[in-house]
Amino acid sequence: MKSPTQTHAIDFDSAKLQRLGFGQIPPLVERPASLSQLRQQMGLQLQTSLEPQRILGLFFREVQRLVPLDALHYRHEPSELRLELGQRGHHSVSYSLSHQGEHLGELVFRRNQRFSEQEQANLEALLVPLLFPMRNALLYRAATQSALRDPLTGTGNRIAMDQTLEREIHMARRHQQPLSLLMLDIDHFKRVNDSHGHAAGDQILKAVATSIKNQLRNVDMVFRFGGEEFLILLSNTSREAAAMVGERLRYSSQMADYQVEGKQIELTVSLGCSTLLPAESADSLLRRADSALYVAKREGRNRLAMAG
Ligand code: GH3
Ligand code: MG
Ligand code: MG
Repeated sequence: MKSPTQTHAIDFDSAKLQRLGFGQIPPLVERPASLSQLRQQMGLQLQTSLEPQRILGLFFREVQRLVPLDALHYRHEPSELRLELGQRGHHSVSYSLSHQGEHLGELVFRRNQRFSEQEQANLEALLVPLLFPMRNALLYRAATQSALRDPLTGTGNRIAMDQTLEREIHMARRHQQPLSLLMLDIDHFKRVNDSHGHAAGDQILKAVATSIKNQLRNVDMVFRFGGEEFLILLSNTSREAAAMVGERLRYSSQMADYQVEGKQIELTVSLGCSTLLPAESADSLLRRADSALYVAKREGRNRLAMAG
């Protein structure tokens, strides 16, 4: 169950973590606790939520009544869930959680002092009451998320996009942070379908979506906007920074090795970028990215254009 680890570089947007509710978990009141007390209390407490974020937030807080920690990292690749609580620490112990053969994610405890054998044994024992609540939360998340995802590419669908865009505009205003948007369209995609068939086209679309997600720190912000068009929301990102992200996406799409039946396919994308203006609506922000995309197409494709 346990294995030594090196530092995982999970880059997570901490502003978003606040919004997900870690900020609302009351600080530690009682401490310390014995292992058996804690196991029993956690067993009850962790079952009070179906949100992985909240369950792990409570877990992180409670574990510290027995074992001091600086940070807790969690990730579950199948549901693209990555959470990071606390600050980084030099030492870590990591656990791969599973229950009856079902993978429930990777958990890394970090801090600046070494973990003793006894502490590691305690951490292992405390993982037990976490398993069922996490399993239920992951199942629930999978069910709710399927309603918000595009089944082909796994990116957010239009419903998710509309919700997220409204939320991000609201947050950008409230925190006076920039918000940028990239609209990405595959160049001459019709040709891919015409030459290789629709099924191959679907595979390429999936690969493009994966390549986009691999380039970004927050995969929840990628949406399938239309057939072969994707929208990427960049929170707290200025026009200049968004241009760099756009250029990186353009370059990586051009360099990616897309294969159909063993043959390599050349593929490029065009992008339009807009940055939220004071008092601008979601529609207007989208429209400006779309107009910029049109300019990129007109000027020869395989390029990024910035909205005026
Ligand atoms: P450009 O954007 O560079 O102007 O050219 P294009 O050929 O990509 O442009 P257009 O938007 O006219 O065509 C998009 C094509 O994408 C049309 C359709 O055949 C294809 N397409 C859209 N959705 C899907 C899909 O889900 N699967 C597949 N295989 N093809 C799709
Ligand atoms: Mg296209
Ligand atoms: Mg298109």
